[in-house]
Amino acid sequence: MKRLNFLRAFYVFAAVLAFSLCLAGCYGASGSGALTGPSGGDSSFGNSSSGEGSPGPLSSGELPQNGLQVHFIDVGQGDSILIRQKDHSMLVDAGENDQGDVVVSYLKSQGIDQLDYVIGTHPHSDHIGGLDDVIQSFEVDRVFLPPIEHTTATFEEVLDAIEVKDLSLTLPQVGDVWELGEASFTILAPNKDYGDDLNNWSIGIRVEYGDNHFVLCGDAEAQAEADICANGLPLGADVLKAGHHGSSTSTSDLFLDQVAPSWVVIQCGKDNSYGHPHKETLEKLKGRGIGVLRTDLEGTLIAASDGEEISWYKAEGGFLSPSAEESPAAREETYILNTNTKKFHRPDCSSVSQMQAENRREYTGSREALMDDGYSPCGQCKP
Ligand SMILES: [Zn+2]
Ligand SMILES: [Zn+2]
Repeated sequence: MKRLNFLRAFYVFAAVLAFSLCLAGCYGASGSGALTGPSGGDSSFGNSSSGEGSPGPLSSGELPQNGLQVHFIDVGQGDSILIRQKDHSMLVDAGENDQGDVVVSYLKSQGIDQLDYVIGTHPHSDHIGGLDDVIQSFEVDRVFLPPIEHTTATFEEVLDAIEVKDLSLTLPQVGDVWELGEASFTILAPNKDYGDDLNNWSIGIRVEYGDNHFVLCGDAEAQAEADICANGLPLGADVLKAGHHGSSTSTSDLFLDQVAPSWVVIQCGKDNSYGHPHKETLEKLKGRGIGVLRTDLEGTLIAASDGEEISWYKAEGGFLSPSAEESPAAREETYILNTNTKKFHRPDCSSVSQMQAENRREYTGSREALMDDGYSPCGQCKP
């Protein structure tokens, strides 16, 4: 009970602090810190100039060590993300209880012995389950948890580990910017008291490194996403981690409009019982031409940024090359256009046969180019 009271007091303190900081102009914080982007000159990687926000050219070889690395660790059904900028590292979530060892050994395999920050996005076990192992195994500077209590043994274990290591909790204050070497991250959420709705309490962050950005918001659902959009902080990002493992309750249209990612990473377990990622989410992302990367299909995925471009790797060896040319939006396919209604269809769509011959045109090319041309996908065949 003592702990729960502590957390409650922590939240009251947070609310008071938030209010007073806002009076003092808290959003100024997002521009502070004199953080400059990486030089870019120290990387021999990704030096071609493809379109803004699109990933780098096909490359092979080892993971670039100079830039920013974001590792989406395969912990089955759960989240765990390692963010690394040279000697500086942070971990966001650590999967279920039984994934603690997996995360600890992965971090060790990456040569990590110290973490500048550990973030437990929210008290659900698929996020904080392995955190106690991580906190026990590494030197940790700062731990962030949202100011919400949860009476589970898993949550208690995390608090125990924090206590044993004599660490104190840091308040995730929206608008605060924290440095991670030459990178930084801004706290986007939580924005208010969500009661018992733990997912919406998720700590959200936007990681900044040169021109590249990543948005990670735990299991935040549409409500929390709307509140993030309303707080006025910059949200644009190359990569968005899908909220709540690709559930249809997250990744709202409003949020996607604001973040406008080139890639969405979905962390979920193979054949999980929740049906994650939901079909609606996948279709929505496809409709927008956003590249989707899934840990249930690819295992651990690593995004390497040189501050200008992002290249993708698989931890299990092998370079993953979802280049702009291979993204669903850019793939060349054959469509049937209705030049009158400005809709495009799959060749086998039933409405194709009903189309008047003078309006009908066969087209081979990318979906992206068609959309740029003012065409929209048929709602029936969903090309
Ligand atoms: Zn959750
Ligand atoms: Zn979750």
